[in-house]
Amino acid sequence: MVDNSCGTFLFNFYIKRGIGMNKKIVPFTEKQIRDMIKQYPTPFHIYDEKAIVQNVRKLIKAFAWAPSFKEYFAVKATPNPYIMRVLQNEGVGADCSSLAELILCEKVGITGKDIVFSSNDTPKIEYQKAMEMGALINLDDISMIAYLEEMGPLPDAICVRYNPGPLLQEGNAIIGKPEEAKYGLTREQIFAAFQELQQKGVSHFGLHTMVVSNELNVSGLIHTAKMMFELAVEVKEKLSIAVDFIDFGGGIGLPYRPEESFVDYDELSAGIKRYFEEIMRPHGLDKVKLAFECGRAITGPYGYLVTTAIHHKHIWKEYIGVDACMANLMRPGMYGAYHHITVLGKETQPLDHVYDVTGSLCENCDKFAIDRALPKIDEGDILVIHDTGAHGHSMGFNYNGKLRSAELLWHEDGTVTCIRRAETVDDLFATLDFSQL
Ligand SMILES: *Cc1c(COP(=O)(O)O)cnc(C)c1O
Repeated sequence: MVDNSCGTFLFNFYIKRGIGMNKKIVPFTEKQIRDMIKQYPTPFHIYDEKAIVQNVRKLIKAFAWAPSFKEYFAVKATPNPYIMRVLQNEGVGADCSSLAELILCEKVGITGKDIVFSSNDTPKIEYQKAMEMGALINLDDISMIAYLEEMGPLPDAICVRYNPGPLLQEGNAIIGKPEEAKYGLTREQIFAAFQELQQKGVSHFGLHTMVVSNELNVSGLIHTAKMMFELAVEVKEKLSIAVDFIDFGGGIGLPYRPEESFVDYDELSAGIKRYFEEIMRPHGLDKVKLAFECGRAITGPYGYLVTTAIHHKHIWKEYIGVDACMANLMRPGMYGAYHHITVLGKETQPLDHVYDVTGSLCENCDKFAIDRALPKIDEGDILVIHDTGAHGHSMGFNYNGKLRSAELLWHEDGTVTCIRRAETVDDLFATLDFSQL
């Protein structure tokens, strides 16, 4: 077995210095993982608590200059109460878009203005719950004003989501062109909505947008902030409304590929600060609270899907079959997304085999990697699939009767907590009543 302590040292070395490296090092040793597997059979997702905490602290510190800066963690990325509690302890709020996510927040003790409710196509019951909890509601359409009023008096503060459409030059692959995205209000609608809300007694206003997803280009992220600052100024000039709150949404990217680099929070912050000083301050908008709703960037890099190679198949191509499948991680099958793979104990071996790494679904897209150069893999080898800490377990599903895995939390002292047990067949059948058969 290869001793990974050097890798761990390098990992800590770079993380501590905040260098935007991306070496795809696994922070635990093969022995540690094999010990865990005795108690928690593969597949499972494991999250590195310390790395998550250090990362979110770094983000918050980078924006220390911004008035009441707040990160609202996008719950959908990793809807686990233990992860939410870790983040809550760091002063992070929650971004929800469904009833279950609101209830999860309630159970963790995240309520009121620590929640932004950024939903779309929203059922009444969800708005009711959000209002009951005192969450800051972010409207996805102008028609939602009347819809919300049917449930009682409008809250004192309301946020609206902006879709710049063709006014934004740069789109990107996951959300695509804003004019083809279902979210938000047009520019004219933003003004009409604020006017209507003001007439109806709302006194605090927020602006929200999310036009990028998995964006690694800092200038693209800074550009979004500039666009929002200009909109806030125009709102002030045209309507005499000074917004209280600007939320840039999520979308900070994750360097899934080893050759990509982490977004430098300090660079991002400096770029946003420059436009804040230039655009907002001269218009007396220097008290506006700034926020992000990042999910992926917060937990994504610090989660790992651990799976065992169970089959090797040689036909027209070489296949390694593992005990995880697309039910545990959709991104490769759904988006063709790259997720780095480390074969534990073989970190230093040559990448002289080319494999498709597959799951067991009766779907040919159920592959974690296609034509990937890897060391020779034997049955029983443990594969660590990187960057599964966000939009990993949470996107899981039960097609083909596949069960969703456990989630483990890896603490700084080397101990592990099972923060969600693996599903059983009984869980899968819980909604069936066989007695009526
Ligand atoms: C999905 C989503 C987020 C989080 O996106 P990440 O890519 O995880 O940062 C934030 N806000 C809204 C409204 C979303 O839909």
